[in-house]
Amino acid sequence: MDASHIADDLTHVLYTDAQIQARLAEMAVELDEVYKDKNVLMIGVLNGAVMVMADLSRHMTSHVENDWMAISSYGSGTQSSGVVRILKDLNTDIHDRHVLVVEDIIDTGLTLSYLISNLLSREPASLEVMTMFRKPDAANNDVEVKYVGFDIPNEFVVGYGLDFAGKYRNLRDVGTLAPHVYS
Ligand code: 5GP
Ligand code: MG
Ligand code: MG
Repeated sequence: MDASHIADDLTHVLYTDAQIQARLAEMAVELDEVYKDKNVLMIGVLNGAVMVMADLSRHMTSHVENDWMAISSYGSGTQSSGVVRILKDLNTDIHDRHVLVVEDIIDTGLTLSYLISNLLSREPASLEVMTMFRKPDAANNDVEVKYVGFDIPNEFVVGYGLDFAGKYRNLRDVGTLAPHVYS
């Protein structure tokens, strides 16, 4: 669905489907240049990265493989703690592979920081990170994110794979959730 179906639930739309797709197309050109002869393995973190993985990999013109991890982070509900448990591991051995982690959004970066050290211990040939959205707090963590779709303000956003209580993942656009929805 698009934002018109849930206009009352959003204070505003940050990025439309068209803007997201245009940015992904740009990033795909850059990634194709880097990975064209490398048979890159794109690793998505479930469930949020489903949309960005599907769209980004289809914008690309080189061969890619896709695999998935599911992790749960222990925290106080809205804040992640960086203490992470793997619920579903990769199906692929990444030793000597070129790996691109595909993320929906990076807030504190704590979840990603754990994930990166876990993946590096498996000795990939290279490891880079792509995220569709990044919030300002990510700067406090020293995780290097090479490919960023959009830097966004420190607001809770939904859509394009990002949920609130399991909902809004199927919204094509990304918007800021109105306070009456969560209060
Ligand atoms: P971090 O460990 O970087 O603080 O948290 C990353 C995870 O928190 C994301 O993968 C996502 O699941 C969730 N998250 C962070 N910010 C937002 C947001 O604005 N909206 C939604 N729906 N989830 C968020
Ligand atoms: Mg994520
Ligand atoms: Mg979530």
